[in-house]
Amino acid sequence: MRVSWMYAPTLRELPAEAEIASHRLMLRAGLMRKLVSGVYSYLPLGYRVIRRVEQIVREEMDRQGGLEILMSALQPAELWKASKRWEEYGPEMFKLTDRSGREFCLGPTHEEIFTALIRDEVRSYRQLPLLLYQIQTKYRDEIRPRFGLMRAREFIMKDLYSFDRDEAGLDVSYRKMYEAYSRVFFRCGISYMVVEADVGAMGGTDSHEFVIVTESGEADLVFCTQCGYAANVERAECRAPNKTADSEMLPLEEVETPEMRTIDEVSGFLGVQPSQLVKTLIYVADGVPVAVLIRGDRDLNEAKLRRVLGATNIALADEETITKVTGAPVGFAGPIGLSVGCLIADLEVEAMTNFIVGGNARDLHIKNANVGRDFKVTRYADLRNAVQGDPCPRCGARLNSAKGTEVGHIFKLGTKYSQALGARYVDENGQEHPIIMGSYGIGITRTVAAIIESNHDDDGIIWPMSVAPYQAVVIPINVTEEPQRTTAEEIYSELGRRGVEVVLDDRNERPGVKFKDADLIGYPIRIVVGPRGLDARQVEVKLRRSKEAKMVDIAALPDLVLSIIREEVAALTPQ
Ligand code: ATP
Ligand code: MG
Repeated sequence: MRVSWMYAPTLRELPAEAEIASHRLMLRAGLMRKLVSGVYSYLPLGYRVIRRVEQIVREEMDRQGGLEILMSALQPAELWKASKRWEEYGPEMFKLTDRSGREFCLGPTHEEIFTALIRDEVRSYRQLPLLLYQIQTKYRDEIRPRFGLMRAREFIMKDLYSFDRDEAGLDVSYRKMYEAYSRVFFRCGISYMVVEADVGAMGGTDSHEFVIVTESGEADLVFCTQCGYAANVERAECRAPNKTADSEMLPLEEVETPEMRTIDEVSGFLGVQPSQLVKTLIYVADGVPVAVLIRGDRDLNEAKLRRVLGATNIALADEETITKVTGAPVGFAGPIGLSVGCLIADLEVEAMTNFIVGGNARDLHIKNANVGRDFKVTRYADLRNAVQGDPCPRCGARLNSAKGTEVGHIFKLGTKYSQALGARYVDENGQEHPIIMGSYGIGITRTVAAIIESNHDDDGIIWPMSVAPYQAVVIPINVTEEPQRTTAEEIYSELGRRGVEVVLDDRNERPGVKFKDADLIGYPIRIVVGPRGLDARQVEVKLRRSKEAKMVDIAALPDLVLSIIREEVAALTPQ
């Protein structure tokens, strides 16, 4: 490709709306443009990278026996109503109605649609297992689209669904996908981490996320450098703290806390640490109010609470409910004299003595509260998010924390969708069973952004060879001068003939402009044809990721370029 023919509108200035490197660089290098918030047009260079990532994903899915199909983005509401997700999925779903009033959505994911396909086609155990996948556009009306392709409203996803006879079969499918995902991200040149994840609203048992560690990440992770344990904080198990020697229970004491409602306000006002407070949160679980106690400086983990309560829906209670159960305005709830049937407390609360709680009256808190003497706890459970410094649930060493962005997610679904939609098979003995499923997603476009997050410097993108839009660029210093122009042309056609994906920067621009663009776009190999080298029939070769350039005989250039490409790709190929 000639740059004079290319459509890669590079930008010199930093786009104001772009907060992270990948978003900035994708705009600056002319890989994409925004259509509306969270919706992008992929330009030639960007789309080439997307297709390369898709190809890697495709190869790894096929290697595990995956079969590629393509389903519609337009999905009938009935299937989503059958799984109850038409309501449960919430406002992230783009819903629409056709001219005769029939309801549809633009698929945010495809569990229902794949399950329905299988339900109508698969009858016998002989047809299982099956691994079906697609690479297709998804729609999610994200509350906060941002970071370019990282959190878009329209994005490309690879989604694979596994269909097995039993749990053992599901284990095999899951392990295959675990391996496929590890290989995909390795081949893409991403430094990733695999973390245990919460199964959330998808239903199911096992789940792992493949994440990249980034400052801008929206997922909180903890990991152990001793034993390798890593988990999303929502998932990470917190152990009960060691009991400290019982300190003497002090008498209860009421304190006035005018207009002090939050933990920070109350602890600041009383001159104590937030960890000396216990907050009382009023939740409504499947319609029933419950009180939840947790140390003042901790974050409640709703996923854990939902699991512990065995509830489908939980949400913080509204003002009216809070006033009803506490007898006080919001901000002063406490466990003493509370009218709820269930008072559930985090494990840490069990080890606390003489703590501060809300007084269930306006502007009132109570000091020296103690479980047992002052109120009863229905049940203790692990309810908080893990934090840095917590003991590792596996080996007890201290956990580290990091922010991450999920690029891939694998899930054991079990029978949630096959039961809801009636996807069953008949075994050897003529017995009917629901098909056991798994669901496995990779955000293709998010992966492109993640590759850039892992591979860039101040000058631009540094594409790993495996996904680069082009492998090499040939830059004549001055196209109006012979023999620079003809030599560059010759190198360009020879490399092309030898199968190298090569770009010729044939623009009549200053060399500085061409070098800047080449660095910004990030071609892995740069070949400069200049007057000095030509006298000795030499050109300059430089790798984007290294600082050094070397002079190479033109006659030896094609072999050298091919060997660099081979080596770079080999380094990105898992053993
Ligand atoms: P997140 O927690 O980041 O919202 P998710 O749990 O909603 O992700 P999944 O439903 O598991 O994501 O989707 C599978 C994959 O699709 C994710 O691993 C991610 O790579 C990609 N993905 C999800 N939402 C988006 C989005 N809004 N923009 C781009 N890619 C996305
Ligand atoms: Mg999401």
